[in-house]
Amino acid sequence: MMLIVNRKLSIIVVLGAVALLANVGAVADWLQAIGAVHWAQYVCAEYATGTALTVIVVILLLVPATVVCATAVTRCSVCDAALWRQGKYCPECGSRG
Ligand SMILES: [Zn+2]
Repeated sequence: MMLIVNRKLSIIVVLGAVALLANVGAVADWLQAIGAVHWAQYVCAEYATGTALTVIVVILLLVPATVVCATAVTRCSVCDAALWRQGKYCPECGSRG
């Protein structure tokens, strides 16, 4: 059961990461709004610009999402298509991978 829950969660994380990538400007605005950019500039004005901080935050979110994604995907034993859930029929060849 935990495995199934983890995989559902991983898909949500990946979708969230994609949404974040599509809205980097919005993320930057959000960081500005919660004061993270100001805080970073206060702590380390020379290195942490708002843009750099945004990139770092997005990368920190994307790396674990990518790892979880790679872990969640399994391969069909017949045609090698990517399968998101074990125990389902392969969408490519109909085999029970
Ligand atoms: Zn297949």
